[in-house]
Amino acid sequence: MSDVSVALPAYMAALTPVLNDVVAPAAAEIDRGGTYPRAAMDALGRAGLLGLISAPEVGGQGEGHRAATAVVQAVAEHCGSTAMVLMMHYAGAAVLEAFGPTGVRERIAAGDYVTTLAFSEVGSRSMFWAPMSTAVAGGDTVRLDAQKSWVTSAGQADGYVWSSMPVDAEGASTIWLVPADAANLKVGAPFDGLGLRGNSSSPMSASGVEVPASAMLGTDGGGFDVMLGVVLPYFQVMNAGFSIGTANAATAKAAAHAAATRFEHLDQSVADNPVARANVARMRIRTDGAEALLLDTLTALETGRADATLRVLEVKALASETAIDVTDLAMRVSGGAAFRKEVGVERNFRDARAASVMAPTTDTLYDFIGRIACGLPLF
Ligand SMILES: Cc1cc2nc3c(=O)[nH]c(=O)nc-3n(C[C@H](O)[C@H](O)[C@H](O)COP(=O)(O)OP(=O)(O)OC[C@H]3O[C@@H](n4cnc5c(N)ncnc54)[C@H](O)[C@@H]3O)c2cc1C
Repeated sequence: MSDVSVALPAYMAALTPVLNDVVAPAAAEIDRGGTYPRAAMDALGRAGLLGLISAPEVGGQGEGHRAATAVVQAVAEHCGSTAMVLMMHYAGAAVLEAFGPTGVRERIAAGDYVTTLAFSEVGSRSMFWAPMSTAVAGGDTVRLDAQKSWVTSAGQADGYVWSSMPVDAEGASTIWLVPADAANLKVGAPFDGLGLRGNSSSPMSASGVEVPASAMLGTDGGGFDVMLGVVLPYFQVMNAGFSIGTANAATAKAAAHAAATRFEHLDQSVADNPVARANVARMRIRTDGAEALLLDTLTALETGRADATLRVLEVKALASETAIDVTDLAMRVSGGAAFRKEVGVERNFRDARAASVMAPTTDTLYDFIGRIACGLPLF
């Protein structure tokens, strides 16, 4: 008899025990205590998954958008905080793969280095493409001064992919690698968020942080192209994967709750009620619709399709709003039981809300997509 089973990609096979043994068992406590998922990041590193998108020449797995998105989505089905920390690591790793020093790339591939993006600033808020922080050259070093408003893995990452205004050149920004142990780099108050509570998404400040001139990633003034060309595609598809994973988890838990919960006096389950079933169906359809767009976006990226940029913009907006709606329905379907933690969907409900306000936010994406549709310039 021929074997018709479809083999899991090696990276998904490597992920399964990490999910079962480390990520899933810790998820509720990470949320409750707001604790950083260090054990999960260590386990992902040991499984070769922090180096998923690192090139084979530095010891990585040489994967791209599709694999990173699949891994983030699968992790999000169990723990939103871990998924977001991993997602921001991949976003930073993509920049370091393109422009970073070999030693750091080797450490990422070896699972021994966590990175993230430090783009958002107090001054320009969600308009990350317009940093107001400064980079001033002095001999072989550059002095960075900044007020970063949000950095996932703040105080936990080994290095920050960091934006500033250019040193000398024209252009909106320049990107740097700032090591975690740089003097005068400070992490703000501990993160106490509504959701994604284990993300350590604190503000950070730099007051005269000195980095070598070689810490520049790309060219002076070339940050905008790095943000749009390298970061944005990864960020958008992985963020969509995060939202879909969260919506998937909420749909599965709400459906299981509806099927298992009984009105004893009627000898019926909640799922015997057609209104509840229709709500579960709406959750399933919305989630699957977002996933279909995500898969199409990945194909558009991989094949260089003419509509790839539009899809990349659309997919995060659709997925994040879908996750908000689906997790809201999960709360409704699961009733008062969901208001406590026993069904598990209230964590998904809180976690799902972040993606919509992560830049580019849904409202900004609507503006961009509307501009494209109306033939107006993006900026
Ligand atoms: C959990 C979490 C983790 C994060 N991690 C990181 C990270 O690792 N690195 C990083 O750099 N940043 C990170 N961020 C920051 C994020 O990317 C955004 O910059 C931040 O959430 C924006 O919040 P704000 O209060 O500054 O929004 P504001 O800029 O004040 O926006 C407020 C509202 O105005 C809307 N708005 C703004 N501009 C427009 C526009 N042009 N058109 C229409 N509406 C608009 C926004 O959509 C939003 O609804 C994180 C955020 C969260 C929530």
